[in-house]
Amino acid sequence: MKERYDPHQIEERWQRWWEGEKLFRAAEDPKREKYYLLEMFPYPSGRLHMGHIRNYSIGDVVARYKQMQGYSVLHPMGWDAFGMPAENAAREHKIHPAQWTHDNISYMRSQLKRMGFSYDWDRELATCDRDYYRWEQLIFVRMYERGLVHRKKSLVNWCPQCQTVLANEQVEGGTCWRCHGEVDKKELEGWYFKITAYAEELLEYCDRLSGWPERVITMQKNWIGKSVGAEVAFPLADGTGAITIFTTRQDTLFGATFMVLAPEHPLVAELSKGKEQEAEVRAFVERVKRQDLITRTAEDMEKEGVFLGAYCTNPLTGAQMPVYTANFVLMEYGTGAIMAVPTHDQRDFEFAQKYGIPMIVVIQPPGETLDPATMTEAYTEDGVLVHSGPFDGMENRQAMEAIADYLEEKEIGTRAVNYRLRDWGISRQRYWGTPIPITYCDHCGILPVPERDLPVVLPLDVGPKENGASPLPDLPSFIETTCPACGGPARRETDTMDTFVESSWYFARFTCPDYDRGPLDKEQANYWMPVDQYIGGIEHAILHLLYARFFTKVLRDIDMVSCDEPFTNLLTQGMVIKDGAKMSKSKGNIVDPDDMIKRYGADTTRLFSLFAAPPERDLEWQAEGVEGASRFLHRVWRLVYELRNKATQKASPVGKAGLSPQLWEMRRKAHQTIKKVTEDIERFHFNTAIAAVMELVNHLYQTKDAIEATPRAESVWRETVEALVVLLSPFCPHVAEELWETVGKKASVITAPWPQYDREAIAEEEITVVVQVNGKLRDRLLVPVSAAEEQVKEIALASPKVRRHIDGKEVKKTIFVPQKLVNIVCA
Ligand SMILES: [Zn+2]
Ligand SMILES: [Zn+2]
Repeated sequence: MKERYDPHQIEERWQRWWEGEKLFRAAEDPKREKYYLLEMFPYPSGRLHMGHIRNYSIGDVVARYKQMQGYSVLHPMGWDAFGMPAENAAREHKIHPAQWTHDNISYMRSQLKRMGFSYDWDRELATCDRDYYRWEQLIFVRMYERGLVHRKKSLVNWCPQCQTVLANEQVEGGTCWRCHGEVDKKELEGWYFKITAYAEELLEYCDRLSGWPERVITMQKNWIGKSVGAEVAFPLADGTGAITIFTTRQDTLFGATFMVLAPEHPLVAELSKGKEQEAEVRAFVERVKRQDLITRTAEDMEKEGVFLGAYCTNPLTGAQMPVYTANFVLMEYGTGAIMAVPTHDQRDFEFAQKYGIPMIVVIQPPGETLDPATMTEAYTEDGVLVHSGPFDGMENRQAMEAIADYLEEKEIGTRAVNYRLRDWGISRQRYWGTPIPITYCDHCGILPVPERDLPVVLPLDVGPKENGASPLPDLPSFIETTCPACGGPARRETDTMDTFVESSWYFARFTCPDYDRGPLDKEQANYWMPVDQYIGGIEHAILHLLYARFFTKVLRDIDMVSCDEPFTNLLTQGMVIKDGAKMSKSKGNIVDPDDMIKRYGADTTRLFSLFAAPPERDLEWQAEGVEGASRFLHRVWRLVYELRNKATQKASPVGKAGLSPQLWEMRRKAHQTIKKVTEDIERFHFNTAIAAVMELVNHLYQTKDAIEATPRAESVWRETVEALVVLLSPFCPHVAEELWETVGKKASVITAPWPQYDREAIAEEEITVVVQVNGKLRDRLLVPVSAAEEQVKEIALASPKVRRHIDGKEVKKTIFVPQKLVNIVCA
């Protein structure tokens, strides 16, 4: 060991040694408890950024800590390798997306290794590898067979910049999640995963995810958006059928005075056909179709509509209701039609006022009588039913049930549940993705590619076209195939899957990355799944985390895994910011991990990113903080270097009786630190855990020279130094290994058991303090030896014996003699 700490001399040496010894290889050991720790895998964009470093440093502390606690740990790493940036780079740099991706992976892998993260590299996977996506295609086929995949033509989100369809989850405030450009609507045929079939279970299980942040649970619940109500049929006045609506307010049915259809509703054209309104309706529909959904549903959007020239009948009152189409009704929600109750819905109220439609009050507030002629806004609170036939006088909450019963009895309607969640559109008109395993035959129709013909390989001898479009639709060698049913000529699907499909099951594949007889080896998957701790950014709160939950349930139902949920605990780490803003190229405030490693080494980089803020908070990057972290490691190094010759005796627990007060205090400090660091790591309070280690180091510096080197002292020194190195090791593993070797250990520090604290050593000593009131002895109390004046005074004032003598009198002052006496002086 050198006298001076030099990270560059030690870090790569230990990294090579760890790899050679396979210290982080995960093994299914039925005798040990398993712990599966996972950080969201990166997109191979080129280089790691500080956000990655922070995310993976957090995970690495937990992985190393759990391994030292004796768990069988799985801590894998891989690459979310399909997607647009590879195609863009391909065009820009005239390089194939596969080449670009693999180059980036190999560079980023070397960066991760240089950080010393404890990954089991034997399990590395990249989703663009044929051995990965072939199994995804098989999952697709199994889902198809179970009716969980369907094809439909619908109005989809279209990003003109990315030239592809986006799922609803991928549109953020009307813009594309990736390029942040405006999203259009476009009618397109594509493939959908039936996530709605799992809406209820996805919602119900939200309440079982007690290890998830409340905020994420709420976002998922809102996205699934369950509402309970009724579906009711309103007969058309001309006797040609009925309009079915969904409502959560069947208690207001008697007040429904008009009907509104979404402009996209098929009945709009049908009902207005041949009427004098026909031309006006058509022009209106055309105009609204060009408005986006966000604008159409905005609170302050002007509510506009046109009368279709048709009527339907309120099934409860028999009254005729004019049928309109309006911009604020969406085809995507419910049935695309609403019954309008102007007196009890603000949107309907505004519309009825604008178009002079009659209003009827059907719910009266307690002790008040509403008159439609004088109402200035809708009444949306609870009350008692009026003008509602047999239900008059009933509380409206009660009437919801009663009217639902009545509808079912008369066969006018049924109770129904509606979800905001839509099926997941997965067709992408892109090249760099997993081919959708579907065949089109003129005779046999649409057929999935049979298992024996998988994988459908993405051809690598072509790339994206000049304009960015996929080459697959123009590639005969790809398109032309034979029909699996009749053996005649057939065509392949040329769309690829949304890259979020790959990230929906990679965590399960990590349990058996080399398995070649199916997507998952059930035994291994069931040993490791679910992930015990998942770590990643909050931006995935709905998108990836919802899809992954859905896929886990599908994998369970196609008998590939037995758990219901993929992630038991979830930590969403904050961003890394500098000069008040998120690090980004455009802001010019990026700190490059490579520069940090070159200058300070991996341990300092890790230490700073863990010490500067708790994981959930944003981390403000500060050069002085990095300097401080580096100085601390130099300090630890010097301390252990100096003590290595003092701490020669074997560490053995020594009781208080055998130690001088200074030695006892040192031992106490060491064990208090063990307790604190252990509890803090369990709670992810890494910053305070590191602060405790720093305090221990300070204490050792202050006392080391005052202690005489006796065999007893050497034993306590040794115990303390060993604890210090072990406690530091999850945060700064390289320096810890080096120091561990310095104190004579042969095996890696990660094979050392995590230390247990000695209860006797951390017990605070107590002494008896005398309490007087106006100079007279009133009580004797036990207080901690180190208790400050305020604390002792508080304890004294809480004593019933003391209180009795103060009783109502004003405390003038308190005389305090440390460790001996409190005298309370009253008026
Ligand atoms: Zn885009
Ligand atoms: Zn055929």
